[in-house]
Amino acid sequence: MRGGYNVPVAGAPLPEIRELPAPDRLYLPLASRRLDFGDVRVEEGQRVARGEVLAVDPEHFSIPLLAPYGGIVRLSEVEGHIVLDELDTTAGDRAAAGSTGAVAERLLALGAWQYLSDARTGDAADPAGRPSATIVSTLRLEPFLAGGEAQLDGALERLARGLEHVRGMAPEAPLYVVVPNADAPLAAELRKAVSACSGAHVVSVPMRFPFDDPALLARYLKLPAGPDTTVWAIPVEGVLAVEAALTDGRPCTERIVSFAGPAVTEPTHFRLVPGHPVADILAERLCREPARVINGGLLTGVVLSPEQRGVDSECTGLTVVGEPTRQTLLAFARPGISRRSYNRSFVGTLRTDMSMRYRAGLSGEVRPCIACGQCADVCPAGILPQVIHRHLYADRLEEAQRTRVDLCVGCGLCSFVCPSKIDLRTELLDAKRVLREEEEALRAEAEAEAARAAEAKAAEAEETQAGEVTV
Ligand code: SF4
Ligand code: SF4
Repeated sequence: MRGGYNVPVAGAPLPEIRELPAPDRLYLPLASRRLDFGDVRVEEGQRVARGEVLAVDPEHFSIPLLAPYGGIVRLSEVEGHIVLDELDTTAGDRAAAGSTGAVAERLLALGAWQYLSDARTGDAADPAGRPSATIVSTLRLEPFLAGGEAQLDGALERLARGLEHVRGMAPEAPLYVVVPNADAPLAAELRKAVSACSGAHVVSVPMRFPFDDPALLARYLKLPAGPDTTVWAIPVEGVLAVEAALTDGRPCTERIVSFAGPAVTEPTHFRLVPGHPVADILAERLCREPARVINGGLLTGVVLSPEQRGVDSECTGLTVVGEPTRQTLLAFARPGISRRSYNRSFVGTLRTDMSMRYRAGLSGEVRPCIACGQCADVCPAGILPQVIHRHLYADRLEEAQRTRVDLCVGCGLCSFVCPSKIDLRTELLDAKRVLREEEEALRAEAEAEAARAAEAKAAEAEETQAGEVTV
């Protein structure tokens, strides 16, 4: 493992979890980071029970959006959302359809499958596929998000059962469980719980962002890579969701969402359900306004759109940083404790243990690359972001490919440390996406060509046979 960096930023929550009172209504977004629940399965005014399927994502194995509580469906009240009204928060879990079928089917029906992904691409795992290995990470190292230390408090027995279930899903594939290399009591207990799981290999990595990234871990573990070789990745909350689904047949309708950042009065991890109104979470909990709300972590999250009314079904955290209200002359050359940006900030004084109160302003404009090499120093993928940036700037996509843009894991550290404020992460991820689309189009074309050739050969053989009969 090389590179990486722990961002010294103020506003981290304590590793304990607080419950939020149930709201009056839920606003369930029909899209989240990876999923698009375009196939709505309920009607206006319909009463649904907890765990009932509201919509599915047809592009991703019909992963469902489940009703977190019972309630009345409102489809046309808020664009892009299913609203649940007249909530019944006391009703018991409804046995989900398919809960007695094959394991993958049950996990899909109970909402736990959405936690399984392809370690290298981050795409949803194929329920019909078989992995060559499975990686479970108990770490979440991006600032503020809830990792094992919060998720597993009092849940080590459930983790052990969940790991047995995960192992049973692909018994022939090795199971790697990533634990912190710290001396904390929980780390020791974790190692003990993991060691009790038959066939699980304990892997400990340094506690430095982004060493919990599944693609990096797959490379670090030297797991075979190839178009037909999949490695599954499951975060610790996914293992708990699998345990709840397979042990008790419980639908996965809760999330732990961190609410933190320099603009939050009391940074906390909340246990809540998807659809919880964002406005309720923000109300009277901000110490600085205007503020920017980021859906996800500080480095890899996306700015929450003002149209999004509720927490989405993949949300891991809401990170809040102050917005700048005025420009300061030559601010980029005079960074102060409250004047630096949360990303693309001035690098000269980053190397400090002091927690900084980052904010969303850039304090100056984007400038040309000065070849300082800071981006390459922190890059955990071992590539040279500044060189790839030069190729992309000159529209040389093939050169970017040759310099291994595909290895970028999108951690965002290069953008964070760049003194010229170049958004390297976005540039590299865009290039990666274009290259992947081109590769997929070429593969589809080659497959279609091979199918055409096979058809022509079969037709030729048929003709020859018919000719022989006539003679
Ligand atoms: S190039 Fe990619 S992997 Fe490397 S630091 Fe930047 S975002 Fe992270
Ligand atoms: S950190 Fe920014 S300025 Fe420095 S080499 Fe990388 S791209 Fe260039």
